[in-house]
Amino acid sequence: MLPDYQDLLLLEPRLREVEDELRGIRDDGASSFFCSNYEWLPISARLKVLLGPGRKEPPVEELDGGCVFTEVDLDEGAEGGEEDDLESDLLFDSRVFEIAYVELSRRMPACRDCGCQRFMPILLRQLECSRELFAR
Ligand SMILES: [Zn+2]
Repeated sequence: MLPDYQDLLLLEPRLREVEDELRGIRDDGASSFFCSNYEWLPISARLKVLLGPGRKEPPVEELDGGCVFTEVDLDEGAEGGEEDDLESDLLFDSRVFEIAYVELSRRMPACRDCGCQRFMPILLRQLECSRELFAR
């Protein structure tokens, strides 16, 4: 079973430091714009270090017959953790990253007058156009 966010705080207490960092992010209105996505980048990088960026390789029986999966050691370069214990098994799973992402990203202030707001409608229009092209 996947942990919830409160479980993650117990499994990885350094998430509190990320929360503190996040609390320090404010749109004080002093600059002409504020970009939540830009501010999120270092938070996201820290979460990936603490929780892991991707899923572990699924058990062999779940692999699709024709596909060849190369083994990726997610713990490579991690500082001396105990890779085989239950906690690190829970943490280094991208679904856990998503749980933290959902909880923490909604605490971010909204974008104001930044490029995201200009380019998002363009991006959505392009996606709509490519969908129409593929539908032909
Ligand atoms: Zn933005």
